[in-house]
Amino acid sequence: MTIEFTRELNPNPVPDGERARLLADPGFGRVFTDHMVTITWTADRGWHDARLRPYAPLALDPATAVFHYGQAIFEGFKAYAQPDGSIKTFRPDANARRFQKSAQRMALPELPVDDFVAATDLLISTDRAWVPRDGEKSLYVRPFMMATEVFLGVRPATHVTFAVIASPAASYFSGGLHPVSIWLSEEYTRAAPGGTGAAKCSGNYAASLIAQQQALAHGCEQVVFLDAVERRWVEELGGMNIYFVFDDGTLVTPPTSGTILEGVTRDALLTLARERGHAVDVRPIDIQQWRDGVASGRITEVFACGTAAVITAIGRLVWQGGELTIGDGGIGKVAQELRDALLAIQYGRTPDTHGWMHLVC
Ligand SMILES: *Cc1c(COP(=O)(O)O)cnc(C)c1O
Repeated sequence: MTIEFTRELNPNPVPDGERARLLADPGFGRVFTDHMVTITWTADRGWHDARLRPYAPLALDPATAVFHYGQAIFEGFKAYAQPDGSIKTFRPDANARRFQKSAQRMALPELPVDDFVAATDLLISTDRAWVPRDGEKSLYVRPFMMATEVFLGVRPATHVTFAVIASPAASYFSGGLHPVSIWLSEEYTRAAPGGTGAAKCSGNYAASLIAQQQALAHGCEQVVFLDAVERRWVEELGGMNIYFVFDDGTLVTPPTSGTILEGVTRDALLTLARERGHAVDVRPIDIQQWRDGVASGRITEVFACGTAAVITAIGRLVWQGGELTIGDGGIGKVAQELRDALLAIQYGRTPDTHGWMHLVC
């Protein structure tokens, strides 16, 4: 049985005309729907007080633990308008399970998978008018959880808040489908063995921003990180997994053994690539193999993947003192093929033979 939600509808929703204007050019992560969901957890009562309510600021005491120690996690997935008018999400149960793993790592309470899906379904169905119906747009759903105990002592919080908000989204990178330049971070790492790299926790992002700043200073949009021990193995970008395509059609992606976030997109692409006749190797790639492979023509494409941007071709790798262009610097054939295949499933243009799509309303 899932938790019961009380429902308070927004008495002042965004007017239809204004919403239509916002949906025409939503960008990413700056426009939010009329409602949100919150659920409270306390050590003595467990999960309770599940509410659908008007979207509004949260008033938090300055001594709230999350402000100080960053005990917080999040998720991200999308809802897509289908040709028949229904709305579906992509593998929300996978996000729910990953959210539980992240919670475990950050000493937060685990939200049952069914409650996670019920909470996100309730928000999406209530705000279904905010799911864009045109182009490659979607409604980005952002569940998150944070320590809301008012206490400065250092220990896991005994008062925690789970919340879901939603935001209509165009494609993540401003330029659309153009390949990105990637900065190789040799100074900073993202994750260490035993650390939090496999958890989707807020602190991982905070820690990656200085490298992101360096990337921008070197004319790059994103950062790629190496492993923290040998500073040699390619791990992932700040918020996306990485794939290499070899000249014989083989795809290679590094194994997610503790320091790499297990992307749902990465996982779906393993399946889609194999179905399309590609061999897929999950094995480590070192930075020298990347450089040599591009130079010799063995590596023909490199791309990043994640929910927000789906697949982004990496056209250029830049590091302190050098750079290389991958292939012709454009979007590769395999990246394009896999991107099209995944989007066709998500937008209901092709049958969902994997049981990945979840009917919301
Ligand atoms: C969220 C995330 C990804 C991508 O995961 P998806 O489930 O595909 O969106 C990759 N790397 C990091 C560090 C992430 O936080």
